[in-house]
Amino acid sequence: MKVNTEVLVIGAGMAGLKAARDLQDAGLAVQVLEARDRIGGRIHTDRDFAPVPAEMGAELIHGLGAETWEIVRQQGIATRPVRRILMRGNKGRWQPLEEVSNGDRDWELPVLPQDHESVQAYLSRLRVSPNEYPDLVHRLRIDTAELHEVSALEVAQQVSAQLEEGELEGDADFRVHGGYDQLVHALADGLHIHHGAQVELIDYSGLEVRVYCTNGALFTAPRVILTLPVGVLQSRMVRFLPALPASRQAAVDALKMSDVVKLHVYFDAPVFPPGVDGMVDLDGTPPYWWNASSGSGAQGELLVGWGAGDAARRLIALGPQDGLALALDQLRGVLGRADLKPAAARLHHWNADPFARGAYSFVPPGAHQARSVLSAPLEDRLFWAGEATDSRYGTVHGAYRSGARAAVEVLARIAQR
Ligand SMILES: Cc1cc2nc3c(=O)[nH]c(=O)nc-3n(C[C@H](O)[C@H](O)[C@H](O)COP(=O)(O)OP(=O)(O)OC[C@H]3O[C@@H](n4cnc5c(N)ncnc54)[C@H](O)[C@@H]3O)c2cc1C
Repeated sequence: MKVNTEVLVIGAGMAGLKAARDLQDAGLAVQVLEARDRIGGRIHTDRDFAPVPAEMGAELIHGLGAETWEIVRQQGIATRPVRRILMRGNKGRWQPLEEVSNGDRDWELPVLPQDHESVQAYLSRLRVSPNEYPDLVHRLRIDTAELHEVSALEVAQQVSAQLEEGELEGDADFRVHGGYDQLVHALADGLHIHHGAQVELIDYSGLEVRVYCTNGALFTAPRVILTLPVGVLQSRMVRFLPALPASRQAAVDALKMSDVVKLHVYFDAPVFPPGVDGMVDLDGTPPYWWNASSGSGAQGELLVGWGAGDAARRLIALGPQDGLALALDQLRGVLGRADLKPAAARLHHWNADPFARGAYSFVPPGAHQARSVLSAPLEDRLFWAGEATDSRYGTVHGAYRSGARAAVEVLARIAQR
């Protein structure tokens, strides 16, 4: 099979679908290539596990500033803020998060971090007490990896950008009633999406880019938008002809994919403290437990455990059964109920998924410039989107923004001709 079109989009996750939507709405002929048999990528709602949808990937809309509210509002999708969160404080007592958290903290940074400095190194240079770390981790959302793995300069810039946009203080998370995948299905309506189209070679040596798939299909277009996850790009499972310039390849390799584990635990009757949406014990494996049934009116309760960094690596190393057993013990400890027996439970992560190879990107020390190198167009033919290319990386709205940005870049190039 050989298909020619005006724009090819590789990947039918949030970034690819947003790019394709905007370009098709602007009157261009667009085809989307997707390796999986479903759309959504790292948004994947499972409706078979429990009476309420279980999110294998993205679960929450982070903040009222998220651009994805556009879809939520247009489609009339119901959401619910994640309200009461309890956190285990220093003395082991469960307290409302606001009481543990230092809400009046002054985020002005006395000395700027250096490019090679991790958050941990920076904090110890500033002599911040480790007692303050839990507050920082939660409020600044540095919970994707361990503090020694994350670039301090990147976090500092994120925090100041978010403070400027008023996103940080008092910003809530929102759960999507009925499943996160409603957002991607709304965007995908009427798009030409080829499933099972696993791209293996992108030949951009000529004016027409030639995209070869493992099933023998060939797609050609003068412009291609790539939304491949960083983990996929790092794996070299997609080859480029000519090879990517060294600076871009270095940028790809400099970023990291986080290790994240999710646990879905379903109980026939409620087990969480009434009215509580989340319980956080930062020393736990996993540290976070959320009530996914909250406000749904469903009878039983679906709890979601979440852990990244060392906690996730420990659970993954134990394997699905022993990892699950450890996490369930943790949950019993959190709820103070040694007798708890779930009706169904499972552990899930994305590290072994060939089309994701990890959960989402983050910036390690020294890689502060990588994201902007990665997001720039290459030879006016290859355009780059995906969560890792946006300043709100690691989020659905970051992916959405990146798709919108790549579509604008393509339209601008066409207008110049
Ligand atoms: C466990 C977990 C929890 C998360 N929780 C949240 C959350 O609560 N809130 C939030 O905002 N974000 C969350 N995220 C992050 C969010 O899901 C991602 O940032 C976002 O969905 C990424 O979208 P994307 O389009 O950039 O990439 P993807 O969704 O990964 O899309 C890329 C697409 O490319 C396809 N592909 C890969 N390789 C090939 C190939 N060779 N050929 C063709 N197609 C290919 C993939 O199948 C995929 O469909 C979470 C992610 C995970 C994994």
